[in-house]
Amino acid sequence: APKMDKIIVADNIQRRFGGLTAVDVEHFEVQRNAITALIGPNGAGKSTFFNLLTGFDRPQTGEWSFNGFSLHSKSPAQVARSGMVRTFQLTKALSRMTVIENMRLGAANQVGENLARAFFPALWKKQEQEITEKAEELLVRFKLDKKRDDYAGELSGGQRKLLEMARALMSDPEIVMLDEPMAGVNPALTESLLDHIIELKNQGVTVLFVEHDMHMVRRISDWVVVMAEGKIIAEGPPGTVMANPAVQDAYLGA
Ligand code: ADP
Ligand code: MG
Repeated sequence: APKMDKIIVADNIQRRFGGLTAVDVEHFEVQRNAITALIGPNGAGKSTFFNLLTGFDRPQTGEWSFNGFSLHSKSPAQVARSGMVRTFQLTKALSRMTVIENMRLGAANQVGENLARAFFPALWKKQEQEITEKAEELLVRFKLDKKRDDYAGELSGGQRKLLEMARALMSDPEIVMLDEPMAGVNPALTESLLDHIIELKNQGVTVLFVEHDMHMVRRISDWVVVMAEGKIIAEGPPGTVMANPAVQDAYLGA
């Protein structure tokens, strides 16, 4: 692979909410097949930036591309189909669905569900089987297979995080964006989550994640990008970035 192989490139992205500029990113890029951490104090604009990149929210200005193709004005479903997927926290509605139903939902965007159902019933049936098989394989990989038919709401905090990650993989993404994958996870599952993220990279999946746990960031990131008050204030390898006084200030100031 080329040395500077960028999977995401974004320029001049601004998102304002009334008088507040939540995101004001001049330039941002993600290296293919690397693990990139996006860090910064609460309210820095990290989740908003994820929403913008994946089509769930619209910036006032800016351009960004994925694999060289513009994602500007693409819908979340179009973004997901192109190979870029973000994880979702288990909402109330998803909690009332079973684990396997949650997994199947992760594939819904991919198959053009309604079209297939209406016009290609045989094809739909085959796809349904394939989706279930794939979901079951992933559940084994994430050690959730025994929870297959439990309500997702009954899972522990760590198991929910595993489900969120497994669900995102249902659409065979090229890049997975994880928003605080370790939040609310007990230490026993932390290592397992770290291993899953490293395994993604080993399988050729690019990972971009938001995380507060600096221990985790240091251990698995190839590159760290720091946001504060909507702007990128520093980036580099983990050791360099964390030794940066401006980065330490941004955290202490929060
Ligand atoms: P982070 O994920 O880094 O903690 P967020 O992206 O969630 O930060 O929020 C960045 C800023 O934008 C915060 O000040 C937040 O209150 C504000 N914000 C986020 N979403 C909205 C919204 N839909 N309406 C108004 N303000 C918002
Ligand atoms: Mg956030």
